[in-house]
Amino acid sequence: MPGMICLHGHFYGMFSRGMSLKGGNPSCFKEILEQLWWRLDKALQPEDVKYSALVCLLQAIKCGTTTIVDHHASPNSIKGSLDEIASATLESQIRSVLCYEVTDRNGEEGALEGIKENIRFIKKCLINEPNPLLGTSFGLHAAFTCCDETLTKCRDAMLELPKEVQKKTGFHIHVA
Ligand SMILES: [Zn+2]
Repeated sequence: MPGMICLHGHFYGMFSRGMSLKGGNPSCFKEILEQLWWRLDKALQPEDVKYSALVCLLQAIKCGTTTIVDHHASPNSIKGSLDEIASATLESQIRSVLCYEVTDRNGEEGALEGIKENIRFIKKCLINEPNPLLGTSFGLHAAFTCCDETLTKCRDAMLELPKEVQKKTGFHIHVA
């Protein structure tokens, strides 16, 4: 049978396996984000990003998944974070499409860093160092964490790329 394709995931979520939440049971999705995911991703350093990806990639190989889309966030270690994941996916020989989740939750500076990381990685993958195993998209967290001004900046950053590059990529965002 052909390899399976995972169209959305977060390698860093590997670190949540078996983790218990301090401070009670979340009663809604926003509380899950605040008590688990946004605490976890803020703690990530480059080495964590790479090893979380390697563990998930080993499991992907065992399960027959050959292509993965990863929607990454590490607010205190943004620049170069997609390179850490790419080194893991290439080492594993798994096809991947990688992007960084732009969000307003860490202020305007955090959003701009996320935009820069997406554009840097898109240029690297589609212009400077293309690799058939590596694809890229422009990541956005979600409508409720990105204001209109940030979304406009993301669109404008994409429009500054050459047209042939724009055609090979797109936006990746949580919609539900
Ligand atoms: Zn997600």
